[in-house]
Amino acid sequence: MANLNITAQDQNTYDAIVIGSGISGGWAAKELCDKGLKTLVLERGREVKHLQDYPTANKRPWEMPYKGRMPESAEEANPIVNRCYAYDQYTKHFFVEDNEHPYVQEKPFDWIRGYQTGGKSLIWARQTQRWSDYEFEAPARDGFAVDWPIRHKDLAPWYSYVEKFVGISGNRDGIKNLPDSEVLPPFELNCLEKHIQQRVKENYDDRQVIIGRCAHLTEPQEIHLQQGRGQCQARHYCYRGCPYGGYFSSNSSTLPWAAKTGNMTLRPHSVVHSIIYDEQSDKATGVRVIDTETKESIEYFAQIIFVNAAALNTNLLLLNSTSSRFPNGLGNDNDLMGRYVAFHNYRGSMLASFDGFEDQYYYGRRPTTAFMPSFRNVFQQDTDFLRGYMVAFSAARQGWQRNMIQQGFGTDWKAGLSEPGPWQVYMMMQGETVPQYENHVRLSDTATDTWGIPQLVVSVDYTENDELVLKDFLQQGSEILEKSGCTNIRTMDSGQAPGLDIHEMGGVRMGHDPKTSLLNEWNQLHACKNVFVTDGACMTSVGNQNPSLTFMALTARAVDHATKEMNRQNL
Ligand SMILES: Cc1cc2nc3c(=O)[nH]c(=O)nc-3n(C[C@H](O)[C@H](O)[C@H](O)COP(=O)(O)OP(=O)(O)OC[C@H]3O[C@@H](n4cnc5c(N)ncnc54)[C@H](O)[C@@H]3O)c2cc1C
Ligand code: SF4
Repeated sequence: MANLNITAQDQNTYDAIVIGSGISGGWAAKELCDKGLKTLVLERGREVKHLQDYPTANKRPWEMPYKGRMPESAEEANPIVNRCYAYDQYTKHFFVEDNEHPYVQEKPFDWIRGYQTGGKSLIWARQTQRWSDYEFEAPARDGFAVDWPIRHKDLAPWYSYVEKFVGISGNRDGIKNLPDSEVLPPFELNCLEKHIQQRVKENYDDRQVIIGRCAHLTEPQEIHLQQGRGQCQARHYCYRGCPYGGYFSSNSSTLPWAAKTGNMTLRPHSVVHSIIYDEQSDKATGVRVIDTETKESIEYFAQIIFVNAAALNTNLLLLNSTSSRFPNGLGNDNDLMGRYVAFHNYRGSMLASFDGFEDQYYYGRRPTTAFMPSFRNVFQQDTDFLRGYMVAFSAARQGWQRNMIQQGFGTDWKAGLSEPGPWQVYMMMQGETVPQYENHVRLSDTATDTWGIPQLVVSVDYTENDELVLKDFLQQGSEILEKSGCTNIRTMDSGQAPGLDIHEMGGVRMGHDPKTSLLNEWNQLHACKNVFVTDGACMTSVGNQNPSLTFMALTARAVDHATKEMNRQNL
């Protein structure tokens, strides 16, 4: 009997385990497999294979229920996920619906999730910007959170490394607080966006309009062809899965790459319940998994474990990994695990009209937008709020549909249907929120999920600082549009709950000191060094940039460190 158990344990033993196969888990898998480690990737959702499992990729509106839109009843059935702009008939199979995986909202929080191989990498908006030292140094400078244990120079080679593999389209803009990436040719601003760019240049010393840097192959390189990916066709059907592999997802890129090494075992339908900790060796030895199809409970073992379940699920999983050494969660000696959860403030937006450029149009559906990097409190504190915001905007001509609602008949009316309408500008903010002790997640004492795992209680809210940031954006954005000659500027506060930004971060923050942080500068749990957390949970603060590129760079860097430490027999 004992022999049988040893055989079973041997069969279930790998060099490394990765929990989650989304953006960060895909990178962990690729890097570990490239370095020759037999790697088990555990994914709670179903398998989604690149090309094979994109059922709506080429569908037309008339081939879809409700012409592709969500019916009114969706609001009632799934109010949370229905608020996500990317959730519709074409994409709904890549989103978690509300009643499938409940959680407790102590305060309103729209938790948007994608449980499948590839996670949210299938449905992200692909905007990718590096952090600068103005973000890494902000907590130390401004006195919130704790000092980051790394700076841009520590991550710069890893940013370059992942950017070359992912393929980032954009310009080298030479902006101090948005360091240049390794880039493929950019998409183009259209005539009105160029006009606004010029007006901003004339009117402000501290602002610059650029085309969004995004994970799209505008000119595939050899490394992308080796991944089996091709050129982006600017169709902007990305959220359905791209048949060209034109944008980066784990499914099109890192996971098939890892599989090709022969070192990866991908196990879908595997919810990781908790991490197993061994007091004698003072290490994590493996994980407890529940097979969602058979309900079987299985243990897997490895020398190192990468936790990449996306920030909030990573918090849940670590808090649920209790032992007599760690009664409050693995590595949670200071009781700060789950604290300082932060996000991006997307509440403000505006619409404006523009008269002119009536003889000009644009080609295709560009899958990115214009951006203005943060210009508030970057080099010094120059407002009454902490930190700043990035601005995104796009200009487009209204469609022919507008004529359909105007009454009329005859030749002129019909001719009007084939003419594009006037120009409109849409502008929105992406504000940095400052991590707060009170903004936290914890395990429910009473509610459990289908697998008996405690549900997550989310208690996260805006602060007075976020209101001031919003007010400033609405003022500054209006002023910029006004100076650009726009009219009829209508500002909006969506009042949306935190979470809908889908940039969940924090709870297991990095820092120098084990008393005030959970992870060291290599993303290892201070108190259990063979466990690495490299998704958004590790973020000490959240900057104003889109976060996923930083998760990828941190992951590749952490794997490099892990394998070196394994070779030195330190893990
Ligand atoms: C509509 C939309 C637009 C976005 N736009 C951008 C953007 O422009 N730029 C940007 O940087 N980011 C964007 N994001 C956010 C981006 O998708 C996330 O930051 C990124 O996917 C996080 O990577 P991750 O690996 O941490 O998590 P995910 O990609 O979510 O992957 C986590 C995986 O872990 C699995 N998992 C969870 N719990 C367990 C468990 N217990 N056991 C096993 N597996 C588990 C999940 O099923 C999932 O597959 C966007 C997201 C959405 C939905
Ligand atoms: S825009 Fe590019 S990446 Fe998106 S679906 Fe079209 S070809 Fe694919």
